[in-house]
Amino acid sequence: MKIKFWGTRGSIPTPGKDTVRYGGNTPCVEVRLNDGSLVIFDAGTGIRGLGDELMTAGESVKAYLIISHAHWDHIHGFPFFKPAFISGNEFTIIGAQSKVVKLRKVIADQMDKVYFPIQLNALKAKIKFVPIKEQVTPVFDATLTSLYVNHPAFSLGYRLSSGGRTMVYISDNEPFDREVAKSIKNVDKIVVAKYMAVKGDPNQRVFDFARGADILIHDTTYTPEEYVNHVGWGHSHYLFSLKVAAEARVKKLVLFHHDQTHDDNKIDEILQKCVKEIKTRNYQFECIAAAEGMELEW
Ligand SMILES: [Zn+2]
Ligand SMILES: [Zn+2]
Repeated sequence: MKIKFWGTRGSIPTPGKDTVRYGGNTPCVEVRLNDGSLVIFDAGTGIRGLGDELMTAGESVKAYLIISHAHWDHIHGFPFFKPAFISGNEFTIIGAQSKVVKLRKVIADQMDKVYFPIQLNALKAKIKFVPIKEQVTPVFDATLTSLYVNHPAFSLGYRLSSGGRTMVYISDNEPFDREVAKSIKNVDKIVVAKYMAVKGDPNQRVFDFARGADILIHDTTYTPEEYVNHVGWGHSHYLFSLKVAAEARVKKLVLFHHDQTHDDNKIDEILQKCVKEIKTRNYQFECIAAAEGMELEW
């Protein structure tokens, strides 16, 4: 498998001279399976650059686009994804939905004529929507497993396995705390019930899900000090990301969904703290911070 990061930033794009190394585009990760098949995680603004590269290659595109959830930063690049405008291209969009928020509507509504000049039904590519819950879904010759994570409304984490290799993509996820869950009402009731039902640490659901992955891409929006003021916002601090990686015994942790206020130097500092913590605790995995344009192959 090969991975390329096209967008690593959480919440809102952060262009500028202080974010050039880690990048200012919102989440989009390109995955190439062994046979070159294209799987895309999330359609943040990073997907524009991926689309332009696909257009330059000039070949017809058949790909899966896997959406973690409906928040802007994970869908707002889609209307600028040029291959979706080209006849002959085919996209299967996978993601969660609820009774009121249907997957197709999530993409279509942001292209409503109030917000955007071209509507979804005017796109020339063939686009199929596949709403999923927690389940196993075939994606080309790979297997995609999905898990509801702890995030306002509903959000899925994904595990993609192919040819004996596994990557886990958990873009937005907050440590689940039973007491906090009782007071916060903005996470889907069904999701909360699933975590509440776990005996012991409710986050065991996430640890088990990421078990043994070669690569874990995990939400690392905050420092522990910042997290205190953002409980319930749906994001992790780096100590929790390290814990998920350690408990799941993954080989490599990629810090992802960088906070909008963190410039390149701050992300360097967070990464250094993580590396130090890994050494102190004798954890056995490698840790890197996702940077726009970074490629991983394994
Ligand atoms: Zn996000
Ligand atoms: Zn979100």
